[in-house]
Amino acid sequence: MTANALGSQTLAGIGAGSGIAVGPSFRLGVGAGARDAAASRGVVIADELTPAQAAHLDPRQVVAVIAVRGSTTAHGVIVARAKGLPTVVGLSETILTIVDGTSLLVDGESGLVQLDPPEAAVRAAHTRREHELDQAAAVRRLAGEPAITRDGKRIQVFANVGSVAETVRAVAFGAEGVGMLRTEFLFLERDHLPGEDEQADSLREIAEVLDGRDLVVRTLDAGADKPLPALEMPPEDNPSLGVRGIRVGLLRQEVLATQLRAVLRVSAERPVKVMLPMIATRDELSAALQIFAGARAQTGIETPLELGMTVEVPATALNAARLARDVDFFSIGTNDLTQYTMAADRGESRLASLTAGPQPAVLQLVKATVDGASAAGRWVGICGELAGDPAGAVLLAGLGVTELSMSPVLIPEVKAALRRIDLEQAREVALAAIETDSADDARALALELI
Ligand code: PEP
Ligand code: MG
Repeated sequence: MTANALGSQTLAGIGAGSGIAVGPSFRLGVGAGARDAAASRGVVIADELTPAQAAHLDPRQVVAVIAVRGSTTAHGVIVARAKGLPTVVGLSETILTIVDGTSLLVDGESGLVQLDPPEAAVRAAHTRREHELDQAAAVRRLAGEPAITRDGKRIQVFANVGSVAETVRAVAFGAEGVGMLRTEFLFLERDHLPGEDEQADSLREIAEVLDGRDLVVRTLDAGADKPLPALEMPPEDNPSLGVRGIRVGLLRQEVLATQLRAVLRVSAERPVKVMLPMIATRDELSAALQIFAGARAQTGIETPLELGMTVEVPATALNAARLARDVDFFSIGTNDLTQYTMAADRGESRLASLTAGPQPAVLQLVKATVDGASAAGRWVGICGELAGDPAGAVLLAGLGVTELSMSPVLIPEVKAALRRIDLEQAREVALAAIETDSADDARALALELI
């Protein structure tokens, strides 16, 4: 006898955050705010998990997250995965009809969700969980060591964070620094953007946790599926192609200038770099650099500071050589770069085969970026989720990327994979991966190395 009308069936979705867990279901309603999200427990079920909701889930109470919509690179999913929660998206809407408290077994690897699982399946899940925890503990023992390939090349492994708590986790999981602070996550639910002093205090708090490690502060990347109520932006028909990233900062220059002044102030005390999001043209970059120069003049702070930009638009990757003249580094946002290269919404679960994994065309754009950057002597990092997939990391390193930034929990595995490869061999494999016909084929080539 099962407790829910659907019986003991298994639903298939997309595995978006590894691990396995069993717990009672808890439905998080559409539009649920911080307080509802913070009070969630067990297996959280959402139609679509927003970044703000995900940010408030308490991993001591929540054991897994499942949703109807979303994909492996949707922002809510990125936040849930960063908390180490098994996550499955792309499930049938019937999951929204089960009664709260229904026992669910969630496999974040295979994407299977079993309703009212039989006791034997629950026991097997617990055994697998213990085994996974043992394995993770073994890999974590070396997490504090650098990632040096068999032929002696060091790849820097950094973390993507959006809060102080994540920064604490980043250090614990062996991050050598923060490769991308998503500053918009600091202000997700604010009615008003904090002023310069408060922003400087938030950055200082994160820099202090890093204790001398590098901190790359990405300026506000609001818009699309990261709306910031404080910015009061008008609705758009097609927000992913709309006013987002640097486009917001160029339309609302005081918002960007305030943030840059806060970054500059902290840079006088701590190792901080700044990164501009979603630059598509040299004109946009020049305009942003002017705002930066203005902020410098206003603060009077002359401490040198590395200034970089993300590469998230195909045009940017193709123009890397020209753009590289005006910046110190590039960090490739493979989530958006894949979305825009494949013309596939990164939050749409039905298009997961286009947005997940190392698409050969995206690898080609990574190569174009590295080629353009190296001509000008600039370094290239990655801040998209592909860096946190061991196979993806190997391909990216093979293409000449020297810094990989990812969710903290993924760092130990990626470092372990990088230690297993010979960089020269990874280079050959990465070039071969560009010539394949699918992300699966490209990934399979890399898996042979690790
Ligand atoms: C990306 O697009 O890959 C990226 C790192 O930025 P975000 O995920 O915040 O859009
Ligand atoms: Mg992006």
